[in-house]
Amino acid sequence: MTIHFPFQNSYSALPDSFFARVAPTPVAAPRLIKLNRPLALQLGLDPDLLETPEGAAILAGKTVPAGADPIAMAYAGHQFGQFVPQLGDGRAILLGEVIDKDGVRRDIQLKGSGPTPFSRRGDGRAALGPVLREYIVSEAMYALGIPTTRSLAAVVTGEHVIRETALPGAVLTRVASSHIRVGTFQFFAVRRDTEAIRQLADHVIARHYPDLRQAERPYHALLAAVVARQAELIARWLLVGFIHGVMNTDNSSISGETIDYGPCAFMDSYNPGQVFSSIDEMGRYAYANQPRIGLWNLTRLAECLLPLFSDEQEKAVAEAQDILGAFSDQFSAAYQAGLRKKVGLFTERDGDEALIEDLLDAMAKNQADFTLTFRKLGEAAGDDAADVRAQFMEPAAFDEWAGRWRARIALEPQTAAERQAAMHAVNPMFIPRNHRVEAVIQAAVNDDDYAPFEELVKVLARPFEDQPDYAAYADPPLPDQRVLQTFCGT
Ligand code: AMP
Ligand code: MG
Repeated sequence: MTIHFPFQNSYSALPDSFFARVAPTPVAAPRLIKLNRPLALQLGLDPDLLETPEGAAILAGKTVPAGADPIAMAYAGHQFGQFVPQLGDGRAILLGEVIDKDGVRRDIQLKGSGPTPFSRRGDGRAALGPVLREYIVSEAMYALGIPTTRSLAAVVTGEHVIRETALPGAVLTRVASSHIRVGTFQFFAVRRDTEAIRQLADHVIARHYPDLRQAERPYHALLAAVVARQAELIARWLLVGFIHGVMNTDNSSISGETIDYGPCAFMDSYNPGQVFSSIDEMGRYAYANQPRIGLWNLTRLAECLLPLFSDEQEKAVAEAQDILGAFSDQFSAAYQAGLRKKVGLFTERDGDEALIEDLLDAMAKNQADFTLTFRKLGEAAGDDAADVRAQFMEPAAFDEWAGRWRARIALEPQTAAERQAAMHAVNPMFIPRNHRVEAVIQAAVNDDDYAPFEELVKVLARPFEDQPDYAAYADPPLPDQRVLQTFCGT
């Protein structure tokens, strides 16, 4: 029995400078610990076959399936503001691309599958904890309706990786509409390879923005399109309390998907300055700083595209600035529209922005849980304000605000039930809370127990449903359960 992957590779047909051909390194004893069966079907793969030992061998990089053209992609990037001219896939290998059931081209990539020419001093491997973390959080983001790479499978390798201690090794199969990053453009820009930038831009347009082929100035339109997608994406992050944690330009996707789940986290109590990542000492990637950093990253992309805009540097720069200038309004429009929905407003009126800002201020001052405040505000729309009040250290702070909010919603014709339903559809009950993610990882790593992981993944697949049997998963951490720091674990 051979497992058929319907590969149709396009990136590996680009010039040799775009990647290094390299096969995954075989591992000792691959064992499948999770297969995303619905995603397998969506990709035209047979989940039953992937669950056989032969499937596990493929998903661990022990066997390369027919039709794969394994490569490590070249890219550069600004890491915490510092430019590194060569990064590349140091521990990931792109097996190839398949066209999914919706006709969308998807990369199938193994992460943690052994060294590549881009590994520098790294071992090319991944530890089980970060693999589970990426699986949980990326699939939770998908269920929340936020553009993201996805997780097809997690396998343990039967080998150890050495971090601070010896840890079980694992491989994640990541699926993305592509793995092209801002840093991919930077790789060629720093080498002044304008022809490669043009080829990459053409590839990206054909793949992610096919309508732009007809545009009068396709490369300008490409920058505008990436700006728009990133503005929307980052607004979506803020609206669920997500902190990416490492928004380096190499972790910023051209397709507008959330990519590279390292020390990312969802915040519990609302705090605009929240940082979890142990390596983000300056708070560069703090929650509320994400839009600014998004624009910074897009500015780096614009710099790469200048040679395609015009031979006249000044003209090219002016055009790029013009396009980048749209980011702030696009972000604000998406963020404000999202906030209005979160507080149950169907229409837009003067004063809404200030009203919502006041709620956020009160939440910050009162350490209100971000997720539960909005979720329980839905119930307050139907007069049951007990749960939302309880999120505030001083419930009176909520009451003061709620009076104005009630007067505002009274101007709209919707019934309380309609309002609550609309709010529940945008305000999740369940997010991947750090303490839950940590507990699941501990059970898997220390006790080889995957039941907690399975249950968490199951609950997070339906974030907008109440799921009374799993109500405890909605709870914020108790003081002694609080996770203060997250680690990238590379
Ligand atoms: P990341 O922090 O995951 O975005 O990775 C940044 C860069 O470090 C990328 O070029 C990765 O391929 C590389 N890298 C991270 N972990 C490893 C590892 N264990 N071995 C080799 N390269 C790695
Ligand atoms: Mg990365």
